[in-house]
Amino acid sequence: MANDSEPFSEKLRVPEALTFDDVLLRPKESRMEPDEADTATRVSKGVELNVPVLTAAMDTVTESDMAIAMARQGGLGVLHRNMDADRMAAEIGRVKRYDELIIRNVVTAHPEQTVREVDSMMDHKGVSGAPVVDDETGEVLGIISGTDIRPYLEVGESDAVTEAMTDEVITASEDVTPREALELMYDHKIERVPIVDEANRLVGLITMRGVLKRREYDDAARDEDGHLRVGAAVGPFEVDRAEAADEAGADVLFIDCAHAHNANVIDSAREIKATVEADVVVGNIGTREAAEAVVDFADGVKVGIGPGSICTTRVVTGAGMPQITAVSQVADVASQHDVPVIADGGIRYSGDAIKAIAAGADAVMLGSYFAGTDEAPGRVIQMNGKKYKQYRGMGSVGAMSEGGGERYLKEDDEDDYVPEGVEAATPYKGSLASELHQLVGGMQSGMGYVGAETIPEFKQRAEFVRISAAGQQESHPHDVMITDEAPNYSPDS
Ligand code: 5GP
Repeated sequence: MANDSEPFSEKLRVPEALTFDDVLLRPKESRMEPDEADTATRVSKGVELNVPVLTAAMDTVTESDMAIAMARQGGLGVLHRNMDADRMAAEIGRVKRYDELIIRNVVTAHPEQTVREVDSMMDHKGVSGAPVVDDETGEVLGIISGTDIRPYLEVGESDAVTEAMTDEVITASEDVTPREALELMYDHKIERVPIVDEANRLVGLITMRGVLKRREYDDAARDEDGHLRVGAAVGPFEVDRAEAADEAGADVLFIDCAHAHNANVIDSAREIKATVEADVVVGNIGTREAAEAVVDFADGVKVGIGPGSICTTRVVTGAGMPQITAVSQVADVASQHDVPVIADGGIRYSGDAIKAIAAGADAVMLGSYFAGTDEAPGRVIQMNGKKYKQYRGMGSVGAMSEGGGERYLKEDDEDDYVPEGVEAATPYKGSLASELHQLVGGMQSGMGYVGAETIPEFKQRAEFVRISAAGQQESHPHDVMITDEAPNYSPDS
């Protein structure tokens, strides 16, 4: 605060704060090809990812479909919190069970059923085989599959299923690995292996389709039990939601606040951290002092005060911090405490994402970049012959009226909202996988220009140059009329 010895005019001796378009990565000697760049990173002290990308906790970006797709590709989806805690727990459960190796909710047949009954039950449930289980003991008596039934080989439709089933069942215990399960299936020419306990009671089922499906996603983000990873946003004071999300299996909880450098928010975040098993990332912050206030307990910090594409915080409140400077200031402090940093908001191109990492982030979070994909909630809308999806700020009137106001520390009635975001539409983009491929491919190319094979090495080696408005203009396509759209560049991003 200005006082007698500090004239107000001193306030105008201001430090400069920079953002993405103010800087470029200085090219350096490289001894690697971009494809060799390893993008593995950490989003929080206990959670590693192969792809340093998160999708925003926004109701037009991340629900379970997005979280599943992101985790399969190696990144992390953070579920928004414009839903009650029960629904959030169900969404978390859906992600956790999605690529499950061992199916727990197994469709079973019972010995007293007839072949016809079992056939129609399997048809109805959409499965092509089922263990036959003793109703009383839960023991696996045999296994029946479509091929045992369909040709009605030597059994009639009204015979007991026990006549048609295979009774020498190959089973495995719960600790079987995907590789061991696959070997069993190949060796015995079978497509499913019931999982049993010591008393031969059915506890689950592994199918060949399930194992092979998982193999398509080599880089997937999985927890120690092999389940897909998922993040969940919790409001600054939502201890109950935090507990519910934790119990449901969320890997990382994100304290979701527009200005986390607030004593009440920090106290509550501390309480949540002390209550849950999941890692707790605190955000958003944008200064060195804010980082200092949370690094003693946070498992990660998230940076971004006003850079978001749908965000009006800076114009409505006059406050904010250009993102490259914000990330670098927070990273100065966080890196001293081994706390990972996530750069959240304002990323339009892959080049912005890798610049954020050069400034000290370990991972990046994006909203608008992914809001137009199939996996984002909401339907495709047509306007003037072009396809769009809805994308809105969580501080917009629409999102706040459905519960998002707490992020902005406001509890006003709808008529009194002072929004810090807008409601918009974003071009429809197709599948998440191809968008993410472009994003990560561009980031790897950036690592190639700096000659760094890993994210930690890149963070050390990368240097910035400051560019002028003329340099910025030179960076984009210029003096031409673009005739064919590139998959990773749009002039109006
Ligand atoms: P984008 O990637 O679209 O540029 O930014 C996404 C980020 O903007 C989100 O992860 C979140 O931090 C922030 N955000 C989302 N909604 C709002 C809003 O209504 N106002 C503000 N200030 N920020 C928002």
